[in-house]
Amino acid sequence: MGHVKTFPSKTLCSLVEPLSNYHKVAASNQYALAVLMNPMWTQSWPIAELQQLDRESCKILKENGGYHPMGTTDLIYLSRKFGGRGLKSVESTYKNIKVKTAIKLYANEDPTMRMLSYRCPTANTEEGEELPGEKVGGMMRIKEEESRTEEVRQQKWQGKLIEARWDDSDVIGCFSWLCRWKTAPTHTVAGVYELYQQLLPTKIYQQYKTKTSNNTDVKCRMCGKAMESVPHVLSGCSALAQSKYKTRHDAALKVLFFDLLCDVGLIESVPSWSSPETPKPE
Ligand SMILES: [Zn+2]
Repeated sequence: MGHVKTFPSKTLCSLVEPLSNYHKVAASNQYALAVLMNPMWTQSWPIAELQQLDRESCKILKENGGYHPMGTTDLIYLSRKFGGRGLKSVESTYKNIKVKTAIKLYANEDPTMRMLSYRCPTANTEEGEELPGEKVGGMMRIKEEESRTEEVRQQKWQGKLIEARWDDSDVIGCFSWLCRWKTAPTHTVAGVYELYQQLLPTKIYQQYKTKTSNNTDVKCRMCGKAMESVPHVLSGCSALAQSKYKTRHDAALKVLFFDLLCDVGLIESVPSWSSPETPKPE
């Protein structure tokens, strides 16, 4: 168990600090987990200690602003195209490797092993389909993703908000930015998730979700007209209509505006979406 106990998670955490969110997860999967994966083929480790390691990784993620403390843990392990972070769990990796080790042993073509006349094991899926040994590892990963998805769906409000995004046919590719924007900083990804899961410290959140406030007044602090919820702050507050909403609206349209000017040959290059340049009358 030496490897697990000396696993330098805190040191690795500080080494990967300057990386983007995508690359932090990749570094954790490819380098940190790899330290444990090699001995996994031959060592036997108590599952409880591997689960503890997973819990500690999540704790580091949450303590360093990478994930909201009330965010759904299963989402951390789901792939990015489904709105997860794509982090590999130590426990699942261990179980997967143990199954693969057994199959490799049984499938060994060595004449001595053949003399024992073992038959390469197969597995039956819940649907009754028989899987050959070499496909069992892949199926385990698919099933893990399915069960994590189900866990998210079962979660009361944070999970329900993500479920609504999966099931809304109008928002296909809703999470594609997580896969494609590889340089997104961690605080940006964490911030968008606070919007997705409505975890911003609004009055509604403190009064009904965390129950940390005794104040029965849940009216918006800016306009005082409606309940202060994430949807209200994002698009329903009259106090923000002429300021923040207008700036956001103009910034989004600016990208299309410069693209059109470039298409008709009025400008030679399109400024970056993040540049401060704004459309001006000639
Ligand atoms: Zn308001």
